[in-house]
Amino acid sequence: MLEVPNINSKDAKLKKLIYDVDESLFYEDSYSNEEFEHLCVCSGGTTSSCAKNGFTTLDLRKNYNKIHLDRKTNLVTIGGGVIMGDLLNHLQKHNRSFPIGLSKLPGAGYILTGGVSPLSRAYGLAIDNIESIKGFLGNGTFISLKKNQINPEKQLILEAIKGAAPFFSIITEIELKTIQSNPIMVIEGFVNLNELSEIIKLSEEFPENISLQWIYAQKIYIYIFAELNNLEDKSTEENLMLLEKFPALEKQFYENFNKINFFPKELNLYELNANNHSEVISLLGEDLKNDIPIFIKCLSEIMENKPNNSCYIASQQLGGKTKKLNHGASFFVHRKSTWKPWIYASWKKNDLQEKEVALEWIYKSWSKLKRFYPNIHLAQLHNHLNSHEEEITLAFGNRMNELKTLKNIFDPQGILPPL
Ligand SMILES: Cc1cc2nc3c(=O)[nH]c(=O)nc-3n(C[C@H](O)[C@H](O)[C@H](O)COP(=O)(O)OP(=O)(O)OC[C@H]3O[C@@H](n4cnc5c(N)ncnc54)[C@H](O)[C@@H]3O)c2cc1C
Repeated sequence: MLEVPNINSKDAKLKKLIYDVDESLFYEDSYSNEEFEHLCVCSGGTTSSCAKNGFTTLDLRKNYNKIHLDRKTNLVTIGGGVIMGDLLNHLQKHNRSFPIGLSKLPGAGYILTGGVSPLSRAYGLAIDNIESIKGFLGNGTFISLKKNQINPEKQLILEAIKGAAPFFSIITEIELKTIQSNPIMVIEGFVNLNELSEIIKLSEEFPENISLQWIYAQKIYIYIFAELNNLEDKSTEENLMLLEKFPALEKQFYENFNKINFFPKELNLYELNANNHSEVISLLGEDLKNDIPIFIKCLSEIMENKPNNSCYIASQQLGGKTKKLNHGASFFVHRKSTWKPWIYASWKKNDLQEKEVALEWIYKSWSKLKRFYPNIHLAQLHNHLNSHEEEITLAFGNRMNELKTLKNIFDPQGILPPL
C-alpha cells in the first residue's frame, strides 16, 4: 500500500515499492510486455497513475525531496519527489515564490506536465521556469540538461521533458527560476450562471496579473486572483472595481500566495468521500468571446445530467505570458490556450456500475465541451482508460511523432507509461 492523496492509487495492491533509481529498474525482464506492465512513478501521488494493482511503484518522495535556494541567483533546486506546498513554504522564508497550481499537494508531476498557475498569465507555465534538469531516460541513461547549454539532440529531449517527461524519463532534480513574493488580493464567492457569464466576459479583458478560476459543483464558486506587484498600477484597480457590482463577492488580502487555500473543504463545494475513486480530464481552449452564452447553456445542460454530487466542472485561466514562446519550445503545444477547464467525476470505489455511469458522464461532457475547448492538457495519464489515445493526440498535436520517436529511442522496452 502507498500512502498518497489519490485514493485509486492508495488502494492499489502493488507488486513492489522502490525508493531509488538504480540499475535493476532498467532490467529487461522486470516488466512484462504482454500485460502492458510498466513502472509507475510517484511524486506528489495525486493522480490515479502513480500506483496500480500488480505494478511496481518508484516513490520519489523519500530520497528525492531536497529543496535548495541559491540566494545569489534566486534559482531553486528541487528533488523529483518534492510537493508544491513544501516548495512554496521553503521559498517564502526568503520572500520568494513560484507559480504553483490551485493545490499545494501535487508534486513534480505538476511541473513536468506543464503547470498552470493563477500566476501563469504573468510568469508563464511551470515548465517555462525550468533552468535545468537531471534524471534518467527509460533506457537507464543518466541525463543532465541545462537550458541554452546543450546540442540539438539534447535540446529536443529537454523540450519533450517540458510537457511529456512521464513517457520516457524519470526526473530526479529540477532547477527552477523563482519570483519575488508579492501580496495577493482574492475576490471570491458564490455566483449564479448569469453572473458567471458576465464575469467570464470581464476576465477575458483582464491584465496579466489577474486571473479567474471557477468551479461549478452544487453551486458556482469563483476566485479572482490579483497579484499586487505594483501599487501604482491603475489597471488592476479599474478591473477589480468592475467586480463590485456582484454583491456576494468578497475581497480578501493575502500577504503571499501560500496563505491562500483554493476550494477548501469548509465551503462544501462538492461531496468529498474517502471511499470514492475518481478520474479527471483537463481540456484547453481559447477565449470564448461571443460564445459565452452558448457555453453557459451547454455548461448548465452538463450539470443537469451529472450522476452524483461529487461531480463537477471547473476552469482556470491562462494566457498572457503562457502564449509567448520566448521561454523556449516545449511539448505543451497549445500555446494559444487561455482556458483550462477540467471535468471531475467520482464513484463508490467498488461500484463498477456507478463507475461506468460516472465515466460516461465525463466523456459526454468532454464531447459537448470540445467545440469550445478542443485540446487536452495531459496533467493526468489515462493509459488505463479508453480515452488515452485520443487524449495524447489532442495533447501533443504536431509534436506527437517526435514524442513517439523519443519514446522508441529512449524507452525501447516500455519501462515507463505507454504512449
Ligand atoms: C487538488 C489538485 C489541484 C490541481 N491543480 C492544478 C493546477 O492548478 N494546475 C495544473 O496544471 N495542474 C493541477 N493539478 C494537476 C496536477 O498538477 C497533475 O495531475 C500532476 O501530474 C500531479 O503530479 P503529482 O506529482 O502530484 O502526481 P503523481 O501521481 O505522483 O504523478 C503523476 C505522474 O506524473 C509522472 N511523474 C511525476 N513525477 C515524475 C518525475 N519526477 N519524473 C518523471 N515522471 C514523473 C508519473 O508518470 C506519475 O505517474 C491539480 C491536481 C490536484 C489533485
